[in-house]
Amino acid sequence: MGHDMHYSVFSLLRNALAGNRLWTPAWRDPQPKPSYDTLVVGGGGHGLATAYYLAKEHGITDVAVLEKGYVGSGNVGRNTTIIRSNYLLPPNTHFYEKSLQLWEGLEQDINYNAMVSQRGVLNLFHSDAQRDAYARRGNAMRLAGVDAELLDAAAVRGMVPEIDMDNARFPVKGGLLQRRGGTVRHDAVAWGYARAADRRGVDILQHTEVTGIRVEAGRVIGVETTRGFIGAKRVGLAAAGNSGRVAAMAGLRLPIESHVLQAFVSEAIKPVIDTVVTFGAGHFYVSQSDKGGLVFGGDIDGYNSYAQRGSLPAMEDVMESAVALFPGFSRLRYLRQWGGVMDMSMDGSPIIDRTPIDGLFLNCGWCYGGFKATPASGWCFAHTIATGAPHPLNAGFRLDRFATGAVIDEKGAGAQANLH
Ligand SMILES: Cc1cc2nc3c(=O)[nH]c(=O)nc-3n(C[C@H](O)[C@H](O)[C@H](O)COP(=O)(O)OP(=O)(O)OC[C@H]3O[C@@H](n4cnc5c(N)ncnc54)[C@H](O)[C@@H]3O)c2cc1C
Repeated sequence: MGHDMHYSVFSLLRNALAGNRLWTPAWRDPQPKPSYDTLVVGGGGHGLATAYYLAKEHGITDVAVLEKGYVGSGNVGRNTTIIRSNYLLPPNTHFYEKSLQLWEGLEQDINYNAMVSQRGVLNLFHSDAQRDAYARRGNAMRLAGVDAELLDAAAVRGMVPEIDMDNARFPVKGGLLQRRGGTVRHDAVAWGYARAADRRGVDILQHTEVTGIRVEAGRVIGVETTRGFIGAKRVGLAAAGNSGRVAAMAGLRLPIESHVLQAFVSEAIKPVIDTVVTFGAGHFYVSQSDKGGLVFGGDIDGYNSYAQRGSLPAMEDVMESAVALFPGFSRLRYLRQWGGVMDMSMDGSPIIDRTPIDGLFLNCGWCYGGFKATPASGWCFAHTIATGAPHPLNAGFRLDRFATGAVIDEKGAGAQANLH
């Protein structure tokens, strides 16, 4: 089959000798079938990973992924590429550690170079109280078998000499380092999972928007799309920032707010920072891409929106933090920015669960952090869909926890989307 070419040194050589004429499309462009066993709504990282693990782990290959745009057009291709598992609360720690372990084997597993780079993630602290909170988080991580190191100011200075350690307002007193954290090339993750799912028989239907969810006698029977009705026994929703709109098609109202989050990139410069640094006195973080651009991120925009675009006030806010921490960056030229629509949950943790409608499953609430979750989210969602019940790793990520009070509020910030 044309799309079945394994990437290896041999296929590289063969193509080098054949003038690159033997490469075939990474995945097929099939016509929708009238019905499937399972439909996944949303061809972002989570939807594609779900389809892949449904096929790989559960042998369910009669699956289609329905994507209204093209693969990689959503947040999976818009994020700042950071992966880590440095969480305090046990449901999060174990879930994100599973994800990090899947990242560590991902490229071999899906036969795709995703540029997984474990360059470390360094969270800076600026006061004694903040150091104590970070020490507590680091201890919780180590008790759960996750790597964490508490660095003093001298160690931070040695690692990232460009930081202004003696900033008058926010002196840097040290940091919590997770060396196994780092970055992964975001759109390669979408392409790699799409190709790997396709090779196992999954149909990836791009430019196929879901416009309705058909429910009969409390059970989902399929979805309306811009290419007609498609039947299914099971439907999994993984629409990220559009989760509220898609779930409303089945009459569900979610505890989710949609906000824009932006990313910013500077001109390319020589290597200056070889890890990921987060500022502890504001919402700001930075890493350097392999092309040389500095990649910055910050807060969500303060109002609800479905607009996938940037704005100037957020840029000013993020650059203020950037130059507070790295005064030298004020000399850089700033190149571009963009936005993605975040599905902010009310406790900052995700939802991977069944819904009150039989056969309809929900994956959402990723806030700022869903890229790093991609492998474990797909793995757990596939398990939940295939078996009809959550895996222990996602058992805490229940939809009804906001009614029962069993919230997973990592930051203790309460039900305020902008604080998570
Ligand atoms: C600027 C920015 C920076 C970020 N930085 C990080 C980071 O450093 N680390 C991290 O872990 N996370 C980060 N995130 C969060 C992360 O990107 C998201 O949580 C994650 O990508 C969401 O899952 P996804 O990949 O499945 O989403 P998406 O890629 O958005 O996938 C959802 C898909 O559903 C499709 N869809 C929606 N409605 C329909 C419909 N009706 N029918 C069919 N398809 C539909 C959309 O077109 C979209 O492709 C960042 C996000 C942004 C925007």
